[in-house]
Amino acid sequence: MLAVSWALTKCCLYLKGLPTFTLQTDDRPLVPIINSYMLDMVENPRLQRMKERMSQYQFTAVWRAGKSLCIPGALSRAPVSYPTSEDMTGCAEVTAHVRFVITATTASQDKDALTIDSDRTLQDISIAAQADPTYVRLRNCISSGFPTNRYDLHASLSPYRKLQEALSTDGNLILYGARILVPAALRRHTLARLHDSHRGVEATKCRARKTIFWPGIDTDIANTIAACEPCQVLRPSQQQEPLHNDDHPSRPFESVSADFFQVAGKSFLVVADRLSGWPVVVPCKGNTTASSTIQHFCRYFREVGVPLLLCTDGGPQFTSKEFADFTERWGVHHITSSPHYPQSNGHAEAAVKAVKHLILKTAPTGNIGCEDFDCGLPELRNTPNQSGCSPAQDPTSHRWDTVGTVIGGARSREYEIRLPSGRVLRRNRRFLYPVPSPNQVPNSDLPVVPSPDMEKSSIPSKAPRWSPKLNRPTGILLLTMGLGFEKPIVS
Ligand SMILES: [Zn+2]
Repeated sequence: MLAVSWALTKCCLYLKGLPTFTLQTDDRPLVPIINSYMLDMVENPRLQRMKERMSQYQFTAVWRAGKSLCIPGALSRAPVSYPTSEDMTGCAEVTAHVRFVITATTASQDKDALTIDSDRTLQDISIAAQADPTYVRLRNCISSGFPTNRYDLHASLSPYRKLQEALSTDGNLILYGARILVPAALRRHTLARLHDSHRGVEATKCRARKTIFWPGIDTDIANTIAACEPCQVLRPSQQQEPLHNDDHPSRPFESVSADFFQVAGKSFLVVADRLSGWPVVVPCKGNTTASSTIQHFCRYFREVGVPLLLCTDGGPQFTSKEFADFTERWGVHHITSSPHYPQSNGHAEAAVKAVKHLILKTAPTGNIGCEDFDCGLPELRNTPNQSGCSPAQDPTSHRWDTVGTVIGGARSREYEIRLPSGRVLRRNRRFLYPVPSPNQVPNSDLPVVPSPDMEKSSIPSKAPRWSPKLNRPTGILLLTMGLGFEKPIVS
């Protein structure tokens, strides 16, 4: 694909505007991708980008055996010039995509390395790939095309026969859709990393489905979890039904749940975002009084932001006058679930359960300062939930902390915003939130979010919703907007 894209760019002077032309390639899997696939059918994001770039040309791809493509074959063995830096940009993109997947995977990340060293991981996978004879055989098979007769295929490659349409190569590596095919030597290590969070079979499979692949990976995941002692000891007797979310927060950290729990005689406070599920764990050091709880929340508000809604189970520290005054001061609407039915604080209960199990499995003594817990918590945050997104895909940088004024509509659904500093930015309406201007009477129709520039008293208890009024430019309106929204496209 890279070669096709390169050739089209190189010859664009002759090809652009032609009613049609024929492209000959010796790469059989490429032919259907070029000829019949729609853009959304191409799973591999790199191929998708290349295909998008090719859409300006009208052509048909046909397959020819490598030996009959004499001129390109001869020139590729005896090139007449060295590649220019422009020619190499496509290759850099290949590495960047693979590196991105690896960074998202943390798959074969060494436990000793505290930071994700994607270059080293890439190198490790690449070395293992070259040392794995099946991997090399498969890579050659993908580039030369699978034999039409199934008996001509090497026995070790038979599991890949059905998958051939989705397989592609990136340098030394093989991709299955957007997932990296892990060489056999690294699979055991990768399974161990995947299970760092000690989540259940489904959650772990879900995590793998976004990043890595090998034939039989689902069975391997199930076996790994079945063989994990802490997981078996703490296995739930009956899988619970998915929780119904009673409110529907529209952005991360708008609505949070909190609860206390005990492990090995030590108390912890867990605060979970109701939209993304992002858990924060605080060891309480034996002190769960209202005043120390307030201190923990102050730190949470400082680091994550002030939520509009806080749900707790109505424990003594949460029902105290001190805590009520505190939430009042910060403009947080605090609701408690029924006293003898803490399950109704379901969201916090689910987060508590996940974190509690993680502590029991990685730090049974309750000392969460250990590295096993540090490895597990990020993995827990990376594991996709029922919505298919992981808490980490709602980055904490998405805060509603900047107030600006709409000065006009740029394109459809986009607005030009002037910041107090005078800077003008363009943002999609997704990233904008209306707030009343200081001299405007709070209006129940107009949703607001807390911001340092606003009077705390003007915050209504009602959770905000996107106002349809903003579908068209409405002149001057104060907006709170989160910056740093340019979210990477997660494959
Ligand atoms: Zn486990």
